[in-house]
Amino acid sequence: METLQKPSVEEFTRFFLEDYEPASGPIEETDVIPPDLLKRAADAGAYRLTTPTEFGGWNLTIGDYLPYLEGAARGHGSGRMLVHLTNGVWRPLARFGNESQRALVAGMASGDVVVAFCLTEQSGGTGRDLKSVARRDGDGWRLTGEKHLITFADRADHFIIVVATDDERGKDSLTAFLVPRHTDGFEIDATQRTMGLHGTGHAWLRYNDIYVADADRLGEVGQGLEVALSFLDYSRVSLSNCMVGLAQRALDEAAAFAKERTTFGQPIATRQAIQTHLADMYADVSAGRGLVRHAAALADAGENYTAAASTAKLFCLNMVGRVTDLSLRVHGGYGYTTDAAIERIYRDARGFWFEEGTAEIQQLVVARHVLDS
Ligand SMILES: Cc1cc2nc3c(=O)[nH]c(=O)nc-3n(C[C@H](O)[C@H](O)[C@H](O)COP(=O)(O)OP(=O)(O)OC[C@H]3O[C@@H](n4cnc5c(N)ncnc54)[C@H](O)[C@@H]3O)c2cc1C
Repeated sequence: METLQKPSVEEFTRFFLEDYEPASGPIEETDVIPPDLLKRAADAGAYRLTTPTEFGGWNLTIGDYLPYLEGAARGHGSGRMLVHLTNGVWRPLARFGNESQRALVAGMASGDVVVAFCLTEQSGGTGRDLKSVARRDGDGWRLTGEKHLITFADRADHFIIVVATDDERGKDSLTAFLVPRHTDGFEIDATQRTMGLHGTGHAWLRYNDIYVADADRLGEVGQGLEVALSFLDYSRVSLSNCMVGLAQRALDEAAAFAKERTTFGQPIATRQAIQTHLADMYADVSAGRGLVRHAAALADAGENYTAAASTAKLFCLNMVGRVTDLSLRVHGGYGYTTDAAIERIYRDARGFWFEEGTAEIQQLVVARHVLDS
């Protein structure tokens, strides 16, 4: 696909299933997305789906974006991560950025600029419990601390890093910075290997008293929590939709295998035991898709969709676990080998338990909604 005309959902999905997917073997082995594939994903428009037109994007509503993302999520996990993250991370730059920070959004849409979002620490919890700090130093700041599990840190040009700028642990104690990759003393250790989602370049970040200019602050001092939370609802819907796409793929793989695999002279698809698994998977995926689309419809109508987004995420987290379990079982022992796509899909699905917040925290958010309403 060479043109930057917006592709149809079918064309976009075909790119991820037929062009991107064949690179799964090398990506699984090397943990790196080949550069030409990153470029072809850019040509397919993967990074500009939701970006506003002023930055060269296609400005899709969430509802219009979801089918594209679902198509990508049916393919290799690194492909959906490219789409999901790039179509999310431009948001804090566009909203809180100064002129030069906002200018990066166009580069993200074209695939020339990669920005990583950095919150998680081994030394602290998230939000107000972060241990990273920044202290004023003349016209700039000195940042000290660490982050880990930072997606695409292997390739990122800039890192949105949220740190504490006072010791109060209050709502306004955090501040965000957009730290350039080549900052003196900024260590990016991209040797962190994950169970699945290979190619997504996770890394430890370490910074000990590194100097960052005040111009690299993202948003006001004390606005870090707001920056971090600013695209949370959107991201919950987007991530839930990735779970729907991956679960759909697990179902497709199970159905195809069931028709092909013969025991005692009959395809296993003719056995009721297998059919009930397929039916349960189908019902689960459909319910998840319905919740995600409902949250998107509220978002696009300008209504509050916090509870709907959290509910979709909580359901889909469990749903993708159940569906990939069943798909693996339908595949029998073959599914446990690396020859079977379900082996990779199963591992990739486990990342959702943690990505952008654990399932347990999601339960707390939904419970709060139930008790408050
Ligand atoms: C594939 C993947 C990609 C990721 N990408 C990024 C990224 O790009 N940027 C980034 O910053 N992070 C990223 N992360 C990290 C992710 O956001 C965190 O793993 C997640 O938020 C959970 O934090 P934690 O790992 O520190 O878990 P912990 O906070 O250590 O939690 C451990 C357990 O304790 C529970 N727990 C913790 N605190 C509480 C509490 N207060 N109340 C009740 N239960 C609690 C949790 O639910 C969990 O069960 C990524 C993770 C994965 C798996």
